[in-house]
Amino acid sequence: MKMDEITTNEMREIIKMDPLVILPIGATEAHGIHLPLGTDTFQAARVADDMAERMDNVLIAPALPYGIHSSMRNLAGTINITFDSMRSFVRDILDSFARHGIRRILIVSGHAASSHMTAITEACRSVVSEHDVKIMFVSDYRIVEEREDFRFEGDGHGGVIETSRMLAIDPDIVGSERPKGVFIDSDCVVLRDASSCMPDGIAGDTSKASAELGERMNNYIVETLIGMVEREMR
Ligand SMILES: [Zn+2]
Repeated sequence: MKMDEITTNEMREIIKMDPLVILPIGATEAHGIHLPLGTDTFQAARVADDMAERMDNVLIAPALPYGIHSSMRNLAGTINITFDSMRSFVRDILDSFARHGIRRILIVSGHAASSHMTAITEACRSVVSEHDVKIMFVSDYRIVEEREDFRFEGDGHGGVIETSRMLAIDPDIVGSERPKGVFIDSDCVVLRDASSCMPDGIAGDTSKASAELGERMNNYIVETLIGMVEREMR
C-alpha cells in the first residue's frame, strides 16, 4: 500500500496495526550515457514495491528523489542537496512519521555516496533519540555490491550492477549504449572537482549487464532485506 494513495482516516487505522513504513530515497543524478537521471530512485522504489508485495503490513512512503553528490555534481541533470539540508529534510520526514505513531521505519537508499549516507544516518540518530521508534537504514546498492558473485572488476556508479538492475526494472528507459568507464582513486587528495575521479561518468564494463542478472540482484536485495526486517524490526 502506498501512503500517498490513501486518506488520513485510512492512515489512522493502518497505524494502529503497527506497519513497517518503507521510505525509498534515491537521487536525480547523471548516470552515464545509457541510464536515466532517476536510476537510484527507481531502484529503491522497486525494492519497496517488491517488499510490500511479499510482506504483510507494509506501507510505502513517497520516494525522496534527491541526494548529496560529489563526482557527478557538475554534470547536467544532477541535483545536489547540501549536507545540512538533506539531514534536516530526512529528519523532518522521520519526525512526522514518529509523531503520527509509526514505530517501525525502513529507509532504502538507492544512492550510496558517503556524505549522503552520513547525512541520513545523522537524521535517523536524531529521531531515535527523541522518539520511541525503530529505524533501519540501508543502501540496496551496498547489499548487492557486498555479494561475491555480483562483483565485477572496477564496477561502480552506472556500471554492471546499476545497468542490470535498471534493465530488469524498466528496459524502456535504458539506452542501447553499453559504455565502459574507470574510477580513478584520488589517493587521499582532496579534489577541487571530483569529476576527475570518473572521467567517463560511470565505472565498470556495462557490456556485462543483463536483465536476467538484474532480476537476480533485485531478488537478492529483497530477500536479504525481508530477512533483516524479520530479525530486527519486530
Ligand atoms: Zn546510482
